[in-house]
Amino acid sequence: MPASFVTQPASRRQRAGLGTIGGLFLGFAAVGLCASGLPLPRLAAFLPFYAGIIVLTNLLTAYLLAAQFRVTGLLSIAVLSAAYLFSGLIVVPHALVLPGLVAAQELIGPDPQSASWMWVLWHGGFAVLVVAYAWVEWRLGVRKLPKAALLRWSLLLPAAVVAMVGLFGFLAARGRDLLPVLSDENGANLSHCPAGWAVILLGLVALLAVALATRCRTLGQTSLSLAMLTSLLEAVLTLHGDARFTLGWYLARVIGMVSSGSVLAMFLYEIVWLYHRLTSLTDTLERLAFVDGMTGLANRRQFDQRLEAEWARAVRDEKAIALIMLDVDFFKNFNDRYGHPAGDECLRQLARAIANVARRPGDLPARYGGEEFAVILPETEEEGALYVANCIAEAIHRLGLRHEAGTPLGVVTVSQGVAVLRPKSGDSWDLLKVTADEALYEAKKTGRNRTAIAASPTEADGVRMWKMG
Ligand code: GH3
Ligand code: MG
Ligand code: MG
Repeated sequence: MPASFVTQPASRRQRAGLGTIGGLFLGFAAVGLCASGLPLPRLAAFLPFYAGIIVLTNLLTAYLLAAQFRVTGLLSIAVLSAAYLFSGLIVVPHALVLPGLVAAQELIGPDPQSASWMWVLWHGGFAVLVVAYAWVEWRLGVRKLPKAALLRWSLLLPAAVVAMVGLFGFLAARGRDLLPVLSDENGANLSHCPAGWAVILLGLVALLAVALATRCRTLGQTSLSLAMLTSLLEAVLTLHGDARFTLGWYLARVIGMVSSGSVLAMFLYEIVWLYHRLTSLTDTLERLAFVDGMTGLANRRQFDQRLEAEWARAVRDEKAIALIMLDVDFFKNFNDRYGHPAGDECLRQLARAIANVARRPGDLPARYGGEEFAVILPETEEEGALYVANCIAEAIHRLGLRHEAGTPLGVVTVSQGVAVLRPKSGDSWDLLKVTADEALYEAKKTGRNRTAIAASPTEADGVRMWKMG
């Protein structure tokens, strides 16, 4: 996974999709430039709504980036988080110097140029911080900060941003003697002063820096490029238009909201995507952890867990529980004669045959290990267990798998040991395995291709009865 914010690599289609959105906004901006002066209804609630969206999206993006910085230790992400924090916080002093947003009159700096300077410092400052991000990304790449430096940068950058916002707010509101005059008495007209064009230039540099430093490898980087493009378009439209509540003015604000929300949108998209990936990976891991890869039967881990649970249930319900242990006869010879791949295929066919027989809900056919299989049969008496074992032997005979290396019948056969117990509280579930294994040994010893069953040992003397199936 690439080390960056929003780590999902951008596919060609996604890049094309985001590029198309950028193209659409270029079109909107062109319409805005041609008909920017067209007066539209004065929506008094629009400006507070716009400011709310800008604050919320920027601060949320800053928060998510800061969290990602803590996880990844990449300084570039911290710098980008600082850029979004700046953009979210500076709206506050901006709102105070702008008439009609918080109050009917501007609250501080009753000077027509305060709001214009605020706008210049906001957009210029954001672009500079984004250029700083691109520079750090380009210089450091995926090099992580040492742990000790994480906290230092986590405190230093937000503190610097807060100081910057305070200073800019003060300058815009009270610094009329320090800053050059931006607008005439009629209000803002930024297109006639170098500061306005400096914002455009910085926006362009930020867009190019992001695109070049990141090459838009991840979805996050691509969405940041889109954010910088739309931010630039907003600046151009703002500079071009000179009156509020015109088509150009509304379009600039809408594009501004899209710009500040695009990285956040990608973050949310990635969260959903990662959640989906996580659930499907968990499914895969569970399958790998509990299923035998070669035969598709339950593996030893699942077998052990299930046997323990069924054993406990049998104790509680005072019911019998049966276990069949099954071992392929002369399987070493099979491998030696026909090769391991053929041996594997043989085991797969045997597994299918066993699974087809033990189909009752609660039955668990499993690969015990190597060429040994086991079947747990809960609530099953001797008669039932023997019936299942015989069905398995028959099914395997029916397969007629050729095996002419030391076998009497010339086909693959199995030996089975069946144990049926009625466990009491305090008995260990291992007893069932040991008993079935002893029965299997008995079946092997007495000639193979047969089933031995061990009935419940009497408590008095532990004598086991052996029956040949
Ligand atoms: P017996 O009748 O006494 O059970 O003799 P056997 O040859 O089957 O028993 P032994 O334990 O000597 O050999 C088991 C063989 O099973 C040896 C091993 O190579 C083979 N085996 C175990 N797991 C696999 C597997 O996953 N694939 C293949 N092809 N062979 C396996
Ligand atoms: Mg064996
Ligand atoms: Mg064997």
